[in-house]
Amino acid sequence: MKKAELIFVPSPGIGHLVSTLEFAKHLTDRDDRISVTLLSMKLAVAPWVDAYAKSLTDSQPRICIIDLPPVDPPLPDVLKKSPEYFLSLVVESHLPNVKNIVSSRANSGSLQVTGLVLDFFCVSMVDIAKELSLPSYIFLTSNLGFLGLMLYLPTRQDRISTVFESSDHELLIPGITSPVPVCVLPSCLFNKDGGHATLVKLAQRFKDVDGIIVNTFHELEPYAVNAFSGDLNPPLYTVGPVLHLKSQPNPDLDEAQYQKIFQWLDDLAESSVVFLCFGSSGSFDVAQVKEIAIGLERSGYNFLWSLRVSCPKDEASAHRYVTNNGVFPEGFLERIKGRGMICGWVPQVEILAHKAIGGFVSHCGWNSILESLWYGVPIATWPIYAEQQLNAFRMVKEQGLALDLRLDYRVGSDLVMACDIESAVRCLMDGESKIRKKGKEMAEISRKSLMEGGSSFNSIGQFVSLNF
Ligand code: UDP
Repeated sequence: MKKAELIFVPSPGIGHLVSTLEFAKHLTDRDDRISVTLLSMKLAVAPWVDAYAKSLTDSQPRICIIDLPPVDPPLPDVLKKSPEYFLSLVVESHLPNVKNIVSSRANSGSLQVTGLVLDFFCVSMVDIAKELSLPSYIFLTSNLGFLGLMLYLPTRQDRISTVFESSDHELLIPGITSPVPVCVLPSCLFNKDGGHATLVKLAQRFKDVDGIIVNTFHELEPYAVNAFSGDLNPPLYTVGPVLHLKSQPNPDLDEAQYQKIFQWLDDLAESSVVFLCFGSSGSFDVAQVKEIAIGLERSGYNFLWSLRVSCPKDEASAHRYVTNNGVFPEGFLERIKGRGMICGWVPQVEILAHKAIGGFVSHCGWNSILESLWYGVPIATWPIYAEQQLNAFRMVKEQGLALDLRLDYRVGSDLVMACDIESAVRCLMDGESKIRKKGKEMAEISRKSLMEGGSSFNSIGQFVSLNF
C-alpha cells in the first residue's frame, strides 16, 4: 500500500500547536495511508505545552512529534520590542535542524514524504521544500481576512517598507468586503522595531507555497473564498473549524477549581451567565480591571470572568492571575457573591459548551471565535493583540456575528469605561438579538461543514488526494 508522510512545522505556542495537531488528526482519520510527523520547537516559558502536545498524540499511532534540538533564544530585549520579530528569529535559528531532519526523512527509502505543512511564521522553510523538490503548504491558524492582509502587504509598492500610521486612509484589502480602517490593523504593522518588517517578510513568501490551508469554513467567509480562488494565488483549502473540544490543562487551573466552576454553572439558569476571557496572553491594568468590575456589577447579570492583571512594575509577575481584593472596587467581592465568579485560566471550550453561558466578551483570538461559533454563543468584541482587531472588525461589520464593544482597543492607550461594558453586556445577553439568532444558525453551518459532503470535509479530501 502506498503511504504518505507529511511533515508539519508549527510555531511554538499553544494556540498554534493545538489546532495544528487537531488538523493532523483530521488527515490521519481520513486516510489511513497518511502519517504526520510534527517538528516541535520548544518554548522554555511553557514546558507544560510540550507535555500536553505529547499526551494528545498518545492514542494516535500515525502522528509523531520530534523535538527540535534547543537553540539559544534571542535576547529578551527583542521580545519586548516586537514579539513577532522575536518569533521570526527563533524560527530562523531552527532552520538548519529542520533542513537536516526533513532531508534525512525524504531520502530514507522507507518513507514517502509528500509535503511540508508550515505555520505562517515558518513560511521561510519553503526554501527547504524547494531544495528537496517537495511541495509546501501553509497551515493558517487564522482566517481568510488575515490571509487577505498578508496578500495585500507586498502590494503596497513604494510604501512596502513603511510602517502604517494612524492617520493613513482606509485600506481596500482583497477578500474583505468593507474598507478597513487602519486602526484595526495588527499592532505590529505600526512597529518600527522589527514588527512591521517581520510581517511583510513573511507575507512576501505567501505566494511561494503550493497551497494555503485555512482554519475556517467556506460559509463563514464566502466573499474571501471567491476572491482568492483563481490562478493568481496558491490553491486554497478551507478545512475548519479545526477545534479541540476538550479544554487544555494549565498550571494555573487545578482539578478543584475546575470542579468549582462547573458546580457553580450547573446551578444557574440557561443563558444567564456572561463569560469574559481574553486569550492565552490578554491582561489588564488595575484601572481597567476596576471599570470591568463596575460594569459587570451594574449589568445585573451573572458573570464568569477569567482575569489576568498586568503589573508593569513587577517584572517577575508581569501578568498574574489575581483574585485578591486589592484590584477591585471597595466591597465588590462581597456584593457579587453568588452571582459572579472570578478565575485565572479557565477551561474555555467546555465553559462555552455549558447551557448557562449566554454571551462571551472575547479578545477575538481566532480559536476563541471558532469555539464560540461552534456553540452558538454570541460575542462582544474586545480585541487586544495579534490580528484580533481585524477579526473583531470583520465579525461585527462583515459577518454581523458579534456586538461591537471595542474594535480598536490597544493596551496602554485606552480605557474602556464601565458604562460601555454595562450596556454591551446588556445587549449581548438580550435573548432576542439578531446576533444571537445568526450565531445559532452559524453554529449549525459550522458543524455541517465538517460532515460528509460538507465544504470543509470536501476540502480536506482534496488536500488528502494531493498526496497520492
Ligand atoms: N484558552 C483557555 N482558557 C483560558 C484562555 C484561553 O482554554 O483561560 C484557550 C481557548 O479556548 C483557545 C486558546 O486558549 O482555544 C486561545 O486561542 P485564541 O486563538 O483564541 O487566542 P490566543 O491565546 O492565541 O491569543
